[in-house]
Amino acid sequence: MSKIDFNKNNFIYKIINNYILKNKKKKIITRFPPEPNGHLHLGHIKSICINFEIAKKKNGQCNLRFDDTNPTNEKKIFIFSIINDIKWLGYKIKKNIFFTSKYFKKIYKYAIKLIKKKLAYVDLSNIKIIKKERGNFYKIGKKNIYRKNSIQKNLKLFKKMKNGKFKEGEACLRAKINMKSSCIIMRDPIIYRIKFDYHHQTKKKWCIYPMYDFSHCISDSIEKITHSLCTLEFLENKKLYKWILKKIKVKNKPKQYEFSKLNIENTILSKRKIKKLIKKKKIQDWNDPRIHTISGLRRKGYTAKSLINFCKKSGITKKENILQLSSLESCLKKELNYKIERSMAIINPIKIIITNLPKNYKKILFIPKNPKNNNMGNKYIIFTNTLYIDKYDIYNKKKKKYIIKKKIKLRYSYNIKIYKIKKKKNKNIFFCKYYKKTLGKIFKKIKIIHWISEKNSHLAKFRLYKPLFNLKNPELSKKFLNNINKKSLKIKKGYIESNIYTLKTNFHYQFEREGYFYIDYIKSTKKILNFNRTIKIK
Ligand code: ATP
Ligand code: MG
Repeated sequence: MSKIDFNKNNFIYKIINNYILKNKKKKIITRFPPEPNGHLHLGHIKSICINFEIAKKKNGQCNLRFDDTNPTNEKKIFIFSIINDIKWLGYKIKKNIFFTSKYFKKIYKYAIKLIKKKLAYVDLSNIKIIKKERGNFYKIGKKNIYRKNSIQKNLKLFKKMKNGKFKEGEACLRAKINMKSSCIIMRDPIIYRIKFDYHHQTKKKWCIYPMYDFSHCISDSIEKITHSLCTLEFLENKKLYKWILKKIKVKNKPKQYEFSKLNIENTILSKRKIKKLIKKKKIQDWNDPRIHTISGLRRKGYTAKSLINFCKKSGITKKENILQLSSLESCLKKELNYKIERSMAIINPIKIIITNLPKNYKKILFIPKNPKNNNMGNKYIIFTNTLYIDKYDIYNKKKKKYIIKKKIKLRYSYNIKIYKIKKKKNKNIFFCKYYKKTLGKIFKKIKIIHWISEKNSHLAKFRLYKPLFNLKNPELSKKFLNNINKKSLKIKKGYIESNIYTLKTNFHYQFEREGYFYIDYIKSTKKILNFNRTIKIK
């Protein structure tokens, strides 16, 4: 697990430390409360890190609580994937998995309690009217006729709601607070609504479901959460959180604290928008390496440690900002640079033939697996008279022509010079000569390129990525679907060193001069490995 920590002076750590000073015997309990309506993304990792790390550090506990109060969009498959992702990140979850749906009966009883205290009523108006009557920032809310109903009438109507006697949208339960409040959330918020969808946990038992604001604080209280940490958009909801816990008179009154969301440039994180991208076929699925879901990042080649380090480095504050992609990339680079094997791969192959070597010539060259880390030992590659090199090492894109008759150095090997190009069946063959005395020697001003001997090569596919969006912050744009980079994925056919194909011992490779790559376990077949470029080398 990562050794980096959040900055110790962050405001949440200070709050926790003060709490421990005052409440020496109390155990710190935090929670991570995802809604199982999609897969987790990079932003969630920040929340997971904060909650699980605090619990770990302070000998406390962090609960994974599925906030499953909306059966319309929730699925069991999301529950499994969320558990899997958290475990992959390295956090322990076994006994500490909870579901809001387990508390439905208790939450229902608290709703009855509010009705009996004249603090909740059933509203039979339609949702458009309710919204209009609640007003907005400039206009205060308006009370309606249902607000005056008696306790008995409300109890009767709420029971009718529970027994499925109303259609969806025909009735809802509202907390009776203050229609004139400057805080719109406090203008008689809806706390229960009707939904006839099948629920993945409670099946068909319920047809009324508590709203997030009502269920969340109650679940926190039931689980004896000491610090309910959430993102800044819940700042206003805090008033309601406190109001509910006060009015239902519970012993445990957890406190809510807010921190800013993690945002990263050129991408979107919101689950709702990711679903749209999939529906519109802009990406293939939730694990598309172009999107910053945990499954997408994992498939692209990010490690758990690099993602956690990135979140920790981003810090815990109340200031909204947007992080650079390069800082995410540098976390991975730092981790893998000394750790993984380097190899040569040719992404845009052209064939060269060395004419001053016999056809069956073969020289074995021992080279380090990673020149930055001698402990990794050596490996061998072979040098023969037919090699693959990358087209763009000798092709000038602007002038649209090959630059030949110049000396170039083959990495770990000899200098060569291409002297002739011949077209054969629409393919160029490059003829060159090698310089015998240049083995392993470095010459100033001679470009060093990567290469693979044809005899030591195996076909492979390379999946090269660019950011999915042309906008720096597509999350802010309503038209985010119109700003998609159509060239965000390029697939190329080329060559890898054949031992990578035969051994298949590692997933991560640094291909010299091309970047860090990771074997794509979905697209690879028995015959051909597919490599996702995780990051480029600049
Ligand atoms: P989304 O907008 O992607 O649907 P959400 O907040 O609705 O996100 P939840 O499943 O409700 O998704 O989130 C679980 C927890 O993760 C919440 O406590 C939420 O505050 C936190 N979270 C969500 N997005 C981020 C983010 N970008 N940065 C930090 N924490 C986040
Ligand atoms: Mg949410």
